[in-house]
Amino acid sequence: MREPLIFEKSRKGRRGCSLPACDVDKENLEKLIPKKYLRQGSLGLPEVSEPDVVRHFVRLSQQNMGVDTNFYSLGSCTMKYNPKVNEDIANLPGFTRIHPYQPQASVQGTLQLLYEMEKLLCEISGMDRISLQPAAGAHGELTSLMMIKAYYEDIKEHRDTVLVPDSAHGTNPASSHLCGFRTVVVKSNKDGGIDLEDLKGKMSERVAVLMLTIPNTLGLFERNILEVSRIIHDRGGFLYLDGANLNALLGIVKPSDLGIDIMHFNLHKTFSTPHGGGGPGSGPLGVKGKLAAYLPAPTVEKDKKGYYLDYDRARSIGKVRSFYGNIEVIIKAYCYLRFLGREGLKKVSQNAVLNANYLMSKLKRYFYLPYDQPCMHEFVLSGVEGKMKDVRTLDIAKRLLDFGFHPPTIYFPLIVKEALMIEPTETESKETLDAFVSSMIQIRKEIDDDPSLVKQAPHNLSIGRLDEVKAAKELKLRWKEKKSGD
Ligand SMILES: *Cc1c(COP(=O)(O)O)cnc(C)c1O
Repeated sequence: MREPLIFEKSRKGRRGCSLPACDVDKENLEKLIPKKYLRQGSLGLPEVSEPDVVRHFVRLSQQNMGVDTNFYSLGSCTMKYNPKVNEDIANLPGFTRIHPYQPQASVQGTLQLLYEMEKLLCEISGMDRISLQPAAGAHGELTSLMMIKAYYEDIKEHRDTVLVPDSAHGTNPASSHLCGFRTVVVKSNKDGGIDLEDLKGKMSERVAVLMLTIPNTLGLFERNILEVSRIIHDRGGFLYLDGANLNALLGIVKPSDLGIDIMHFNLHKTFSTPHGGGGPGSGPLGVKGKLAAYLPAPTVEKDKKGYYLDYDRARSIGKVRSFYGNIEVIIKAYCYLRFLGREGLKKVSQNAVLNANYLMSKLKRYFYLPYDQPCMHEFVLSGVEGKMKDVRTLDIAKRLLDFGFHPPTIYFPLIVKEALMIEPTETESKETLDAFVSSMIQIRKEIDDDPSLVKQAPHNLSIGRLDEVKAAKELKLRWKEKKSGD
């Protein structure tokens, strides 16, 4: 199944279609365009027949592993199945054929959808206002920190520090750094939650915000959240929720009830937009009370005449994304929310948590579970036992590919050695989960009986192991014409 480049299939003069000769006079381009702008050599396009093209791209698509082909337990990323009906709706010409500079009176439907989306997300989170502009979770984090910075500058308090737990996603410290804050790491305790003594020692009047993920990246609920909230708020700081794990909380707990002041959503994760490979995503941010004044402009508002965009916001940090955000992602998430409704969303989270606990209880007999307690929507195993036989978590991940499963997230969170982070999501059946368990058990046996089988995996795919460093450092994105002798 090794598929050559389409350029390698090219044969001079071969065509995909035969059109009648053109009966319009040729115009000399050099008369219209200055010579220096004209292409000198040939375009170098592949010359192939129509079946060549069709087979090439169908074969490539078959080599791709995605949610639509395989179970995809990539922890923290919430790779749930994305209902196709949402794609159809986002594709309606009323959405796809509008221009961002059209008069607002002529895009009332889209503005209404954005307005209602804000209300839905407020209801889910308990936040007062939402901006739909940020293009991903990380962008929502950065925007939030910019707002917090602007707030403290306004009230003339000098706060230059962001607290981040050692289990946090890398985007948290990255956003903090990018925004010019000093990042201080807070330790986790032996149960996987925030170490309260460490937090108290590090909380001060220099701290602007604690960035927290709930449930955290171990898949555990922060049991001391109310105490954490008190420690931060008593010293005038904000509590930020990295909302990437919202799939565990829908309809069960509102972040505002936990003391959260500001948060981002990952619409592409929780609310079922196909994602991976770089987007597009959407990372709306929500705020309580006094931070609302700093939201990016414009906001979507409504008055007697209809819906409108409000650019006239004195303390806004300004725009963070062209136009109004990745609207097609917002439309899909909106459809998803409306299809499921209040009760449906609650079932999403209940089933996501049930599926994760089911997998965890089956697998912990075979793999080391460092934090052995009921989990939320995901859990983290450790491949340290395997390592004794010189088999690493990476090898387990590669071997899973042979069984037709996309591997879990590996080597994250950083506080678990050889981490395997498994998130089944609510959309998988018991049969799929059982098949995954069987494959994991088989791999566990192979580690004991024939570790080289695991270490050399994958065996059944068109590509084996890549030299990942080389692949990342020496990108080959451009096809070069083969010289004779090459
Ligand atoms: C995915 C994720 C992020 C970043 O979100 P993007 O939408 O990928 O930018 C942040 N934190 C956690 C815990 C995540 O899983």
